[in-house]
Amino acid sequence: MNDLIRKSVLAMTGYVPGEQPDDAGIIKLNTNENPYLPSPDVQDILSMVDIAALSRYPDPGCLELRKVIAELHGCKVENVFVGNGSDEVLALCIRAFVERDGSVGYFEPSYSLYPVLADIEDVEKKPVELDARFGWKMENGYSASLFFMAHPNAPTSLTYGRDDIVDFVRGFKGVVVIDEAYADFAQDHCMELALEHDNVLVSRTLSKSYSLAGIRLGYCVGNADLIGAMFKIKDSYNVNYLTQEIARVAILDQNTMHANVQAIIETRKMVSDKLQELGFEVSDSQTNFLWIKPLGLGAKTLFEGLRRKKILVRYFESDPRIRDYLRVTIGTAPEMFSFLDAVEELVNGSE
Ligand SMILES: *Cc1c(COP(=O)(O)O)cnc(C)c1O
Repeated sequence: MNDLIRKSVLAMTGYVPGEQPDDAGIIKLNTNENPYLPSPDVQDILSMVDIAALSRYPDPGCLELRKVIAELHGCKVENVFVGNGSDEVLALCIRAFVERDGSVGYFEPSYSLYPVLADIEDVEKKPVELDARFGWKMENGYSASLFFMAHPNAPTSLTYGRDDIVDFVRGFKGVVVIDEAYADFAQDHCMELALEHDNVLVSRTLSKSYSLAGIRLGYCVGNADLIGAMFKIKDSYNVNYLTQEIARVAILDQNTMHANVQAIIETRKMVSDKLQELGFEVSDSQTNFLWIKPLGLGAKTLFEGLRRKKILVRYFESDPRIRDYLRVTIGTAPEMFSFLDAVEELVNGSE
């Protein structure tokens, strides 16, 4: 049967998403979802949906939604592309901007989807190792057709210096996609770089800060010619009608998003302080998760112990550089108190 499948597809390993268990008793801190409700306007728009509209194809240009995004970032509609989650946006970037003999760059460690997307298109991967503390480190003379830069980075939760980023995009010949999935949780963002530099796209998602992972909406902003190229190759109806409607009202309601983000940032500080008291190394998170090194009992033991207590966090066992760390999504304050109680019990060896 294998001779029916493309060789590159046989050889590659697919992306492994975090677990999505059905068990309601589980505290889920493993996929960086938002624990709070999205904008109440989402409920309203859903109750107003005319089901007759579902028999028609949605607007292939997603115009009303893109107008709202353009307004938010102070750019033109022509500068905005929307996709079925930012994962689709990233995949389309490779298809639009990388030749078959081209290459895709990204830092390591970073979002583990990037190499998978390169493998799917069967183009060369050119990873760049971050420094020992997961800070910026770029090789002199480095080149690639396209570079994915998660900023803040995942799974490390850290940002880079503005000067490093600006120098890099100025010197880089290809397209730089700054993946700002977590920008709403950070002190700083790079959206203006997408409007100032012809080779920079900045992508965002409604999955994290807007509590809408289930609707699948991501977008990117940048030079109108690059955006136009992405439109040319996308599926005609890549963003469905319900998603266009929900995303539009959710983005218009910035207050709900900011209030939820603020609650998460406060909880993040509380959990971070407590874990440091327990002697863990905790990165200075600019995201809705913590990147922790549980000194003493170790990442694997803690991961398994938490699992037994029905608390899921993310552990990257197969990567030697990060197997001493855990990535812990910030849930509600009560969820995080349960998490901290469980951690304390495991650290004290009482269970
Ligand atoms: C969650 C995440 C995404 C995916 O966003 P979707 O819009 O849900 O596809 C992209 N990049 C990074 C770094 C992420 O953590």
